[in-house]
Amino acid sequence: MTEVQLQEFKLEPDSELRFEVESKNEKVVLEVKSGYAELFGTELVKNKPYEFHTGAKVAVFTWHGCTVELRGRTEVSYVAKETPMVVYLNVHAALEQQRVAAEQENTRGPVTMVVGPGDVGKSTLTRILLNYAVRMARRPIYVDLDVGQGQISVPGTIGALLVERPASIEEGFSQQAPLVYHFGHKSPDENLELYNTIVSRLAEVIAERCEHNKKASTSGVIINTCGWVKGAGYKVLTHAAQAFEVDVILVLDNERLYNELKRDMPKFVKVVYLPKSGGVVERSTSQRAEIRDSRIREYFYGKRTPYYPHSFDVKFSDLKIYKVGAPSLPDSCMPLGMRAEEALTKLVPVWASPALAHRLLAVSFSPAADELALHSNLAGFVCVTAVDSERQTMTILSPQPRPLPNTILLLSELQYMDNH
Ligand code: ADP
Repeated sequence: MTEVQLQEFKLEPDSELRFEVESKNEKVVLEVKSGYAELFGTELVKNKPYEFHTGAKVAVFTWHGCTVELRGRTEVSYVAKETPMVVYLNVHAALEQQRVAAEQENTRGPVTMVVGPGDVGKSTLTRILLNYAVRMARRPIYVDLDVGQGQISVPGTIGALLVERPASIEEGFSQQAPLVYHFGHKSPDENLELYNTIVSRLAEVIAERCEHNKKASTSGVIINTCGWVKGAGYKVLTHAAQAFEVDVILVLDNERLYNELKRDMPKFVKVVYLPKSGGVVERSTSQRAEIRDSRIREYFYGKRTPYYPHSFDVKFSDLKIYKVGAPSLPDSCMPLGMRAEEALTKLVPVWASPALAHRLLAVSFSPAADELALHSNLAGFVCVTAVDSERQTMTILSPQPRPLPNTILLLSELQYMDNH
């Protein structure tokens, strides 16, 4: 059901306004008229209009009470008095104590991992905790291991960012100089060996960087993870916990996972159970696909601030495209001394063909097609928008003008239809 165009809400202390924008090409404008409010941990400026578009699912929370106005068509809009925000604030306060101790003792700040099944608010809690930390003048590191959503860069990658200011309401965290590693699939189970390899690598690089950046080191790390928590998914989580040497695991809304982690984690790891917010919205498979698609569109075209990508033709012969992972064979069929799993992190050349149309290609910083390519940060992404077999060329959509850097390109399974 659609609701009226202009709505005003009076929020009491400790309550939140939740709304969703669903209709196609719809825009909803939010303004705080009086009092103080925040959106997933970022303070809202009074009388400043903020725009939300199709697919937005939002909560405006207030600690002290406020009046909020919404202009535009919302699918749902209601005020909720029951929220877990006080619990989340207590978590922040506990992490802050650890940061203070780290500063005094010249040690590392808390490394926190947020886990739980899909759609329980993991990304949202990560954002809230990062925002609260940076509002206390900390410089925490944000790690995103959720290849399905890929909030840093595009889906199919994992990455990390140094957070220096609160997330922008409309554009999220500033994407300056992120560390990004190629995975190329939407779920870790497509290649567990590769996933664990790049998670370990990212953890190593962050540990190295923290050695040279005391402020980041004492501020700690907050890690968002995939919603895959059973079977091999559980192993992936425990591997990440080990690789990052986490101090705290926040488990959202899953007692089984909480108990398993309590049982399996070393004693010095604090495993904390947290309730999920009643406001978190479940997303269907098609909604997830749409979110992925809009992440990629934003990568090339920007969100609020528009980007102007370039489009140009490249000869097949000028491209060095590889995919990661040779077909896996039993150990007995492998060359002597090589394990079957090793094949999963090998680079295999891919010949340009019409099958590559609409695929994303990761631009590696690595000039050579060896193991180092997997261990090096990505320069960015391009998308193959068309393939001309007769002329032996491909049309490439790229954030940078031609030519493509003379490095290798890694093929992603993710596709993007550029009908901008
Ligand atoms: P997860 O990372 O566990 O998959 P998310 O944090 O992405 O879950 O949350 C799922 C969706 O719910 C997102 O679109 C998010 O904006 C929305 N959401 C989270 N918390 C709230 C809330 N309190 N009220 C309304 N929507 C919310």
